[in-house]
Amino acid sequence: MPPFDVPEGDPFGPHNLPYGVFSLPGSSHRTVGVRLGDHVLDAGAAAHALGSPYASLLARPSLNPLLAAGRTAWSDVRRALTAWVTVPSHRETVEPLFHPLSDVTLHLPFEVADYVDFYASENHARNVGQIFRPDAEDSLTPNWKHLPIGYHGRSGTVVVSGTDVVRPSGQRKAPTDAAPVFGPSVRLDIEAEVGFVVGVPSRMGEPVALADFREHVFGLCLLNDWSARDIQAWEYVPLGPFLGKSFATSVSAWITPLDALEESRVAPPARTHELLPYLDDTDEEPGGYDLRISVAVNGHLVSEPPFATMYWTAAQQLAHMTVNGASLRTGDLYGSGTVSGPADRERGSLLELTWNGRDPLELPDGKRTFLEDGDVVTLSAWAPGPDGVRVGLGEVTGRVVGG
Ligand code: CA
Repeated sequence: MPPFDVPEGDPFGPHNLPYGVFSLPGSSHRTVGVRLGDHVLDAGAAAHALGSPYASLLARPSLNPLLAAGRTAWSDVRRALTAWVTVPSHRETVEPLFHPLSDVTLHLPFEVADYVDFYASENHARNVGQIFRPDAEDSLTPNWKHLPIGYHGRSGTVVVSGTDVVRPSGQRKAPTDAAPVFGPSVRLDIEAEVGFVVGVPSRMGEPVALADFREHVFGLCLLNDWSARDIQAWEYVPLGPFLGKSFATSVSAWITPLDALEESRVAPPARTHELLPYLDDTDEEPGGYDLRISVAVNGHLVSEPPFATMYWTAAQQLAHMTVNGASLRTGDLYGSGTVSGPADRERGSLLELTWNGRDPLELPDGKRTFLEDGDVVTLSAWAPGPDGVRVGLGEVTGRVVGG
């Protein structure tokens, strides 16, 4: 079907228009593409063909120039793209510049600067607390309701959807073991998350206020924070996650601009504690996003984590991340933290879904506690869009291969 005739109601219709970077078979030339249905528009070529001033932002091998251009440019480019793919008079010029998705190679769409990962789901934090600190009086740590907990991760190992993930090796030691052993992780897990992509930088010493979130953050994508639970458990006290996380983080090939998600904005859960002024979003616009995530292992649906249940918003995370004066760079990526809802089948990790291996999942190809070599994990999601139409998020998938 020609790309202009994308069916009404398609989650990747002209109301969505996520950005990626693609190349054609036999070519090393990478350039910005915009998805429409099951096609990719060569956005830079379209800009050239139509004499648009945005060619300098779009005929590029990464999204970084567009990310750095700022909110006014983001809105203008999106408005132009919407016209290019919907106004009938452009059809003759633009239609030849589409490629079927199945014909292109999708690449990591931006140069990842710094990478931070948060821990913003109360259900996830409580589940983890109950699993690892069953005797604690409160399953949340004392700081949890006062600040969005996070750590700095490894940006160089962020990979695009479709990249194989090699099972990491490392030290592990169960509490009952006399000494640590070294070998491939036997508790390889996933974490279903949403990643936020920073466009506009900030200066050192100048915190970013809650209200300025949309001036700095361009868009979001699904993110899988692969986690080796056995390596993590032995190494994380007292400085937090390190080699149990840094071997790979997968992101979608498609970055959905925040402007495509206006209808999916929701208020976060009611706050149970008074927040310090820099985090107090009582009088701010709704900071949550109603994203309905699905987690599949080898094509079998195992969980549907609801992003709307996240306690801390992306705006609060950005404000907290910069409140000490740390600066932002174009291409900074921060993960929301594992998304887990209140119900059993809304949990975003195998750690929680199997309760640390106690309750294996029944899959068509056998029981699963943690991941086995050859397993393919796929995150997908949609959000409510204009007039009841869904906004599809690009999936993030990865296959585990033996280390
Ligand atoms: Ca995580």
